[in-house]
Amino acid sequence: MEQIFTELEERCKEADLILVGIGEEFQFNWNILQQDERYQEIEKEIDAREEYMWIVPFLQKLWIEKKADMRLNKAYEALSKLISDKNYFIISTAIDDSIYQHGFREDRIVSPVGGFRKMQCDYNCKSELLDVDYEMLGKVKSYYNKELTLNDLQEPTCDQCGQKKRFNQLGVTKYAEEGYLSQWEKYTKWLQGTVNKKLCVIELGVGLEMPNIIRWPFEKIILYNQKSHIYRIHSSLYQLGENVGDRGTSIKEKPVDFLTKGFVK
Ligand SMILES: [Zn+2]
Repeated sequence: MEQIFTELEERCKEADLILVGIGEEFQFNWNILQQDERYQEIEKEIDAREEYMWIVPFLQKLWIEKKADMRLNKAYEALSKLISDKNYFIISTAIDDSIYQHGFREDRIVSPVGGFRKMQCDYNCKSELLDVDYEMLGKVKSYYNKELTLNDLQEPTCDQCGQKKRFNQLGVTKYAEEGYLSQWEKYTKWLQGTVNKKLCVIELGVGLEMPNIIRWPFEKIILYNQKSHIYRIHSSLYQLGENVGDRGTSIKEKPVDFLTKGFVK
């Protein structure tokens, strides 16, 4: 495996452009939150009062902001070493926002399924994004610290229509695509510029949950660009199509493990 990592380093150095895809297996380890004693208490409390389920994403955001997943942080550091001085673009379907916490250029990241950086009206009534409700985030934190009770918390709502205010993530009633479309445009333009260039593609933990966003389009890119090479890293869905030929390396490993090992080498 070490040899493959060294080869990947070399290929990144030689590449004109680097394309990175981040999927479900390369995301914040939510077990860290679930194993927290206070969180377990809260889970029991809101199990009995389901109208308070809405506080869960606020708790998730608090934990993400703590950058509590040390192994994931290390993996991101390793990724940064590989690509940060190159011309890169990153597409991520991980909702944990970790990609925005490790010094990568924000104008070179697109996260089409959203995350915790913006909120929206559940029905997107005004076709616009809303800022994160930091006042509520603070209250949820106080509740976590037992300075407030559930009764002190009231679900935030849209000023315009009174519907729920939710984090801008795929899965809300009407997803506000305003959150990523301008970056998506940049991404597609960037991709046009990869034609006939030496392109190194790194796919980290992209499975089959949403294959039409990263996995299948990446395979197409490899097919059409003779100077490209893909590293597909996944614990179980690491297979590459035969038509990729020798322009692909599949690595059967969790991407966090693969990158952190390369990092400590
Ligand atoms: Zn609204």
